Amino acid sequence: MNKKKVEKEYLKKINLLDQYNKNYYDLSSPLVSDSIYDKLKIEIFNLEKNYIFLKSDKSPSKIIGFKPSKNFKKIKHRIPMLSLSNAFTEDDLINFEKKIINFLSKDQNFKISYSAEPKIDGISASLSYKNGKFEKGLSRGDGSEGEDITKNLETIENIPKKIISKDFPEEIDIRGEVFIQNSDFKDLKIKFANPRNAASGSLRQKNPEDTKKIPLKFIAYTFGFEKGLKIENQFEYLNKLSEWGFKTNPLNKLITGVKNLITNYNEVEKKRSILDFDIDGIVYKVNEFALQKRLGSVANAPRWAIAHKFSSNKAISKILDIEIQIGRTGALTPVAKIKPINIGGVLVSNATLHNEDEINRKDIRVGDTVTVERAGDVIPHILSVDLKKRSIESSKFIFPIKCPSCGSKTIKELNLITKKKDAVRRCSSEGYNCEKISIEKLKHFVSKEAFNIDGFGKKIVESFWNLKFIKYPQDIFDLDYNKIEKLDGWGKLSVENLKYSVNEKKKISLHRFIYSLGIRHIGLENAKLISKYFKSFINFKNLSIDNKYKDLLNIDGIGETQINSIKNFFNDKTNLEILNKLEKKLSITDASKEIKNGLLKNKTFLVTGKLKGVSRAEIKSLIEKNSGTTVSTVSKKLNYLIVGEKPTKRKVDNAREFKIKIINQSQFLNMLNITS
Ligand code: NAD
Repeated sequence: MNKKKVEKEYLKKINLLDQYNKNYYDLSSPLVSDSIYDKLKIEIFNLEKNYIFLKSDKSPSKIIGFKPSKNFKKIKHRIPMLSLSNAFTEDDLINFEKKIINFLSKDQNFKISYSAEPKIDGISASLSYKNGKFEKGLSRGDGSEGEDITKNLETIENIPKKIISKDFPEEIDIRGEVFIQNSDFKDLKIKFANPRNAASGSLRQKNPEDTKKIPLKFIAYTFGFEKGLKIENQFEYLNKLSEWGFKTNPLNKLITGVKNLITNYNEVEKKRSILDFDIDGIVYKVNEFALQKRLGSVANAPRWAIAHKFSSNKAISKILDIEIQIGRTGALTPVAKIKPINIGGVLVSNATLHNEDEINRKDIRVGDTVTVERAGDVIPHILSVDLKKRSIESSKFIFPIKCPSCGSKTIKELNLITKKKDAVRRCSSEGYNCEKISIEKLKHFVSKEAFNIDGFGKKIVESFWNLKFIKYPQDIFDLDYNKIEKLDGWGKLSVENLKYSVNEKKKISLHRFIYSLGIRHIGLENAKLISKYFKSFINFKNLSIDNKYKDLLNIDGIGETQINSIKNFFNDKTNLEILNKLEKKLSITDASKEIKNGLLKNKTFLVTGKLKGVSRAEIKSLIEKNSGTTVSTVSKKLNYLIVGEKPTKRKVDNAREFKIKIINQSQFLNMLNITS
């Protein structure tokens, strides 16, 4: 890469990080998860390491938090409020200790004592006391200037307002963490992603009366400016703090040696889910103040302290209950309700258990202590059970043999290909006889690749179902809009919009229609094949009358599994009734009428990255409407790779290698004579 390109890439990352910081620190509403944020930070550090000419005042190696908000008066900290360096592994800790020993020029056997303090995930505040009286309170801000949040801090009950103690210094800035207990966070869940954001958002309210309504807590752990403090080490200071009336962390410990730090770390991590406050690691501080003073700090963090972070994708928690969810195809999916735990900035309270076989294989039980993993956007799942922690009273989980929704028998089908029984247990009722399946079928019916009804999301399906507005797909086209307008959260305009969206989708292509029926094993691709074969809705509907199921075997790609499924669908009277009713309400376009000689004829496309203002499903349909084809991988068969925001690097690299044309969104639209 040339210098200009590297600089451009670097500044792009710096600006993105700045945007993330603003949303996290100032607006208390993170745009991305902590792991994505931390990854970006590492990418910036790596660029800075490899290209020493890269410099920015906004580099994460220089900055702390975010500049104070305009909503508050800015005040300079008498001593800066720093951040902390991070450690993730035992090696990181060994290096941390080695650096300290080298810096202090001590013998390799020199023993360092650390104050090991659970790192509460809240926001820090600095409280200035003069002659025992709480005078002023600041947020950390950008480390050198904080926001004057005195009035807000005054509303916190466990911040002492007056301290009468002989040895309390004449002047001191007591520093610690403002946080919210997990039990209190429950009520704020809708507004904030995790307790940390809730604490930050509540503490920095413009009106202190609003802060007062939230039960915030304060734990003290350090100090800034001081006059008259007669203490020599951190642990003694922590003890003094509680004597003076401050709350300190009951899990603070004095520890020597990296091995012992690790043992303590593992013990605390196991206790995480039973604590009523969120911790995201353990802070180790060199205990002796004299040594701290000699060690000093780098740009934005002290050399004498480090935060040993918990994994950002794993955590230990407890299973409170196992619930069975029922999907559109009747599959019974067990879900573990776990004691809420923060994994990489996201509060996780559900973990999938996949299926009956998985529960049996891992012998997962209610009450078990488990390790939960949440990697990327994958649904959190249980990695392992700590059998040592299992109660002798616990019993094996019995998977229901009757559907918890409709009471029908649950069955495990024989897989025709593997000749083995499925791992998944299903409700044996065909669709609309089971309430839970019906709701899921309706959600599928309105979904993006099916009817794609704008503004008719999953929540609306559930709400209309509960209000008995819809039971079958045809009811969607017979809604009583007057009744909807009277509901909470609906108004004239939103009802008009909904009505417009529903009416607009009454015209639909045959393949989308077939897909929307939610027949098991008939996904979008199979629906296309079937629609091409039958050409019209009438031919498709008459399949059951003509009993020509076997003919479907002529369709390349359709096998016995799909045919059995279609047969089951048509054997159900309710489904036939639905087809008849929908036929009267809709205009289903014959497959033959779809454009065959469109502008994109004989051309294949693949999209990577996010496009502006259009969904993947819409682009796909646009391509197909114009006789083009979409493919799912980059191969020599691909003609165009459409690249949006944040594309998959591998796809772009492969396309370059195969010399495939790479185009952006507007170039693609130009091919269709659409100007963007
Ligand atoms: P930090 O929170 O990792 O560490 C420093 C802070 O730890 C201190 O300011 C203090 O508030 C706190 N702390 C708790 N207990 C302490 C104790 N006993 N002693 C000393 N300090 C203690 O540092 P940071 O720079 O404020 O934030 C970085 C973290 O925030 C990372 O985990 C990052 O992922 C996350 N973050 C996420 C986003 C996002 O968009 N998701 C954006 C910015 C930051």
